[in-house]
Amino acid sequence: MDAPYAKVEQLEPGVARVLAHNPSAFTYYGTQTYLLGERKVAIVDPGPDLPEHLDALIAAIAGREVVAIMCTHTHRDHSPAARPLSQRTAAPIIGCAPLALETVGPRADASFDGDYAPDRVLADGENLEIDDKPAVAVATPGHTSNHLCFAYRAALFSGDHVMGWSTTVVVPPDGDMAAYMESLDKLRQRDDRIYYPAHGEPVGNPQQYVRHLMGHRMQRERQILKLVEEHPRAIPDIVANAYPGLDPRLVTAAGGSVLAHLLDLQRRGLVQQQGDAWTTA
Ligand SMILES: [Zn+2]
Repeated sequence: MDAPYAKVEQLEPGVARVLAHNPSAFTYYGTQTYLLGERKVAIVDPGPDLPEHLDALIAAIAGREVVAIMCTHTHRDHSPAARPLSQRTAAPIIGCAPLALETVGPRADASFDGDYAPDRVLADGENLEIDDKPAVAVATPGHTSNHLCFAYRAALFSGDHVMGWSTTVVVPPDGDMAAYMESLDKLRQRDDRIYYPAHGEPVGNPQQYVRHLMGHRMQRERQILKLVEEHPRAIPDIVANAYPGLDPRLVTAAGGSVLAHLLDLQRRGLVQQQGDAWTTA
């Protein structure tokens, strides 16, 4: 694919980007790792542990001090390069909490990086100094329970919570639709100038885009509710009706997203489950 793999793109003063070579139906062209700061730098979402990507990051760092390696969450396309990069730069790993199989059991599936071990976890609102300016952690659970965005110089590094190319995958048990909607509403109330997502192009009209995403999910919820009102339906039946012409590689994810909506509707007393079928409560 024709994409700027292993190249440094300077997006604005103090913000540079390096694209990792891990394209897929879930990652678009791949994971975008950001370098924040000028004299000193921090790395956001180091990405997959690929030698070519690590070498490109070392070249982009260009001998500057790395004050932190920060992960938005611990999916395998985001955090595995944190440890080898820390070994090569002596920088601490600071950011989201770990989500390991031993601690949360079935909530962490195969897409999680069980080796992620941060030196310091940032709580919501906590600050970290990068090149004399604060980076602030913004807790945004939903895509995963441990997801953080990072605000720096009026830009928001939005990870997988808000992406520039596709809606976010929210799949139970770790993904939670109600938490995701609350995290969108949290961003809607902020006044960030631009979002830099881990996948896809920057979002230059963030508040408008977040309102659009919230509307999209509410529309999907109404559609699912209408389908189960007609007659009891199993999830594959809902997916076939709600996502006509869906890329076959995304059918499982769409089923997970429908389940996330159904669990949220069930919590609110609007639907109930009978065997494999869902019906109105
Ligand atoms: Zn992810």
